[in-house]
Amino acid sequence: MGEQARIAVIGAGWAGIAAAVTCADAGAAVTLFEAGRGAGGRARSVNIAGRTLDNGQHILLGAYHETLALMRQVGADPQRMFSRRPLCLLEGDTFQLRLPNLPAPLHLAAGLLGAHGVSWREKIRTALWMQGIKWRKFRLDQTQSVAEWLDAAGQTGALRRHLWEPLCLAALNTAPEQACAQLFAHVLRDSLGSPQREATDLLLPRVPFGELLPEPALAWLAQRGADLRLGQRVRQLAGTRIDDEDFSAVIVAVAPHHLSRLLPAVPDTFSYEPIATVYLDYGAQTVLPFPLRHLGAGTAAWAVDRGQGMIGCAISGHGDWETLADNALAARMADALGLGAPHWQQVIREKRATFSARPGLRRPDYRTDHPCVFLAGDYTWADYPATLEGAVRSGRRAAFAAIQASKRPA
Ligand SMILES: Cc1cc2nc3c(=O)[nH]c(=O)nc-3n(C[C@H](O)[C@H](O)[C@H](O)COP(=O)(O)OP(=O)(O)OC[C@H]3O[C@@H](n4cnc5c(N)ncnc54)[C@H](O)[C@@H]3O)c2cc1C
Repeated sequence: MGEQARIAVIGAGWAGIAAAVTCADAGAAVTLFEAGRGAGGRARSVNIAGRTLDNGQHILLGAYHETLALMRQVGADPQRMFSRRPLCLLEGDTFQLRLPNLPAPLHLAAGLLGAHGVSWREKIRTALWMQGIKWRKFRLDQTQSVAEWLDAAGQTGALRRHLWEPLCLAALNTAPEQACAQLFAHVLRDSLGSPQREATDLLLPRVPFGELLPEPALAWLAQRGADLRLGQRVRQLAGTRIDDEDFSAVIVAVAPHHLSRLLPAVPDTFSYEPIATVYLDYGAQTVLPFPLRHLGAGTAAWAVDRGQGMIGCAISGHGDWETLADNALAARMADALGLGAPHWQQVIREKRATFSARPGLRRPDYRTDHPCVFLAGDYTWADYPATLEGAVRSGRRAAFAAIQASKRPA
């Protein structure tokens, strides 16, 4: 690299962490600015009433290759930190779909044909439809919503209610009537449609979110001499100058609603969707039959058994739940779970959890008007909705570009 590149990364969410690690690994001197006291951004640990919780219940998939690789790179072992389970969707006695331990795509075919609560006619029609999507390489009409896509395909039965719609809400955090069919198809391509069976596995964290990546990554960066400036919000960016410091390149890895302050030329054109996580503690003896449960079409919520009797219920996207007070929302989740009243409860609401993944959404390019300033963040990874994997991939991409730009003569 000749003279050592000095690269600033603004924001220590998963995109900023990925960018900082990639730059440091390439030999750059990295300065990481983070407004919050800790790293992790929208996927971080929080301490509430003496308990370490996550700011929101997250679910990862085996398809998150770059995320898992980044964890390994900084010394966090995904094998130990996740409970890896073959995909299984249960909804009381009404619906069951389990993917068996067979090579892809046999696992999907067997899972679909063996699904409980779905007619044979619907199973066969769905298998043919999915094959057709594969043949078309998951390319769809960009303007279509998920609901329109499912309507056009005659997907109006049990699989729509218990599989496609809940998956759409979980992955895109946007109601099927408003969600972009093409983005949903990309998620299906890299999970159910992947040639690797493991891509559909559910990865349920066994440890608080901070331990999965933010904490080991900060330790890894510190060992490599990175300058970690936690609790320092960047207020002004002029070219590659932050306050009175000059950098060879800058990666801006903040959420889109924080961007206009730093880069007024990139307006925030997104609308946002909330997520609430309701933690219910039932005591160590309580265990769900499967660690992930969809709580029913009415609630659009998933319950995750976090071990030791703690259940995390994630409620995705706008809905009538937003008008409920915390106690009423917790009571609604407890009702849906059918386990009675918990010993302890806590509600965490993230009002701008993700951008709304609507059809025809314009996503900013990761390159900016300045040749040495780049964007990273889930919203810049146009192939995906707002996900950890999109954030990590975007961070890696911005890092490679910043390293290249640092090599060019000024
Ligand atoms: C409750 C919830 C549940 C979710 N569930 C899932 C899930 O199950 N699976 C999944 O894949 N994804 C999920 N997501 C989405 C996922 O968390 C995000 O896509 C991802 O964390 C975005 O990372 P990011 O680095 O792009 O942005 P952010 O996490 O927003 O990071 C941006 C960082 O920049 C910092 N910052 C902002 N301005 C400045 C400034 N001026 N100076 C310095 N620092 C600044 C912020 O403090 C923040 O730390 C969920 C999100 C939420 C909120």
